[in-house]
Amino acid sequence: MDRTQLSLNTITVRSLPIDRVIELAESHGLGGIAPWRHQLADAGVEHVAKLARAAGLRVSSLCRGGMFTAPDAGGRAVAVQENRRAIDEAAALGADCLVLVCGPVVGKDVPGSWQMVADGIAAVADEAAAAGVRLAIEPLHPMMAADRSVVSRSEKAIDLHEDTGPGVGVIVDAYHVWWDVTLADAIRRAGSRIAGVHVSDWVSPLTGGLLAGRGMIGDGTIDLTGLVSRCRSAGYSGLVEVEILSDRWWAADPELTLTTLIDRFERCI
Ligand code: ZN
Repeated sequence: MDRTQLSLNTITVRSLPIDRVIELAESHGLGGIAPWRHQLADAGVEHVAKLARAAGLRVSSLCRGGMFTAPDAGGRAVAVQENRRAIDEAAALGADCLVLVCGPVVGKDVPGSWQMVADGIAAVADEAAAAGVRLAIEPLHPMMAADRSVVSRSEKAIDLHEDTGPGVGVIVDAYHVWWDVTLADAIRRAGSRIAGVHVSDWVSPLTGGLLAGRGMIGDGTIDLTGLVSRCRSAGYSGLVEVEILSDRWWAADPELTLTTLIDRFERCI
């Protein structure tokens, strides 16, 4: 797939300042970037928005909102407030969506935690729509249910979308959902509700743990070509984000990481 379809998730080259990432994305002819909120806090959201616009880069997503689950109502209200700030930042960036990492299981209660997620999304859905920001539920790998997201299956995430309103979409992140035998059906069913596609690979055994163990495109088990083409057939026409959280690639020269991932993107997807 051509590099103009590639959006660089900036965590992939996290040692570089965001200004430099934007410069490199432009000079390599990429389609866009996907920054994380802590980078905006450092550099200033208006500054990043201006640089990205001037470089002709789309912002495919902002990472991240969510984390709606909490043991008490006060904690859940704080989470809703934080999501309001994230929505404002996504609007200022003109981001295609705000990624929601929904929040871990609390109180040993999986269904109850799902309900907290649904309630949290519903609490901000209207404001997001008014700000022109698409919320996008990202199902995570089930081994992250205890610390990051109770939402782990694409099929169930689509149901959650249906509970929370038509403006809410889903992210298909290959690393999180590739193992699911129902994935092809879920992608078909999600259709135009697919708000983003994230690619990296699953290299076994994982080094760096689940969080920082992602593999370079083409190095692992995932049928990325099939996954992306199924998303395209289902109606997704946005950029494809490369998101590689990896101790191995973080230790490498970030410009080597970038040229490697562009090459793999063009050859393997
Ligand atoms: Zn992702």
